[in-house]
Amino acid sequence: SPVMASEKEAALAATPSDSPTIFDKIISKEIPSTVVFEDDKVLAFRDVTPQGPVHILLIPKVRDGLTGLSKAEERHIDILGRLLYTAKLVAKQEGLDEGFRIVINDGPQGCQSVYHIHVHLIGGRQMNWPPG
Ligand code: IMP
Repeated sequence: SPVMASEKEAALAATPSDSPTIFDKIISKEIPSTVVFEDDKVLAFRDVTPQGPVHILLIPKVRDGLTGLSKAEERHIDILGRLLYTAKLVAKQEGLDEGFRIVINDGPQGCQSVYHIHVHLIGGRQMNWPPG
């Protein structure tokens, strides 16, 4: 794929779809990642382009149609809750006792670039509001 000048460019170039994503290869360990938490349902690993001293992605191991939050159905309620609860555990594990930021980008305007739902956990620096 072409080299992207920015995360935004990558997001705008991404086509929302049900095709396999790079996260499948991260789940299967075909592509190496730095895993910080793993159980039977959730994988958490360090983002390759960190936006802070701590930047972790939490994903469901089985996508089950959940390409993004906008595709959520009632059957996804448990995994959505588990992703957020796991983010809290990982924040604690990472020592983010002064706070952190949780982000779920959705669709082109939300700057989503990978169509396998993921929760960003970012911390270790002062955040700003509003986000860009
Ligand atoms: P999105 O822009 O919200 O879809 O987030 C996708 C995230 O995945 C971005 O922050 C990327 O830096 C990250 N990412 C993409 N490929 C990899 C990888 O191979 N390993 C770890 N993180 C990745």
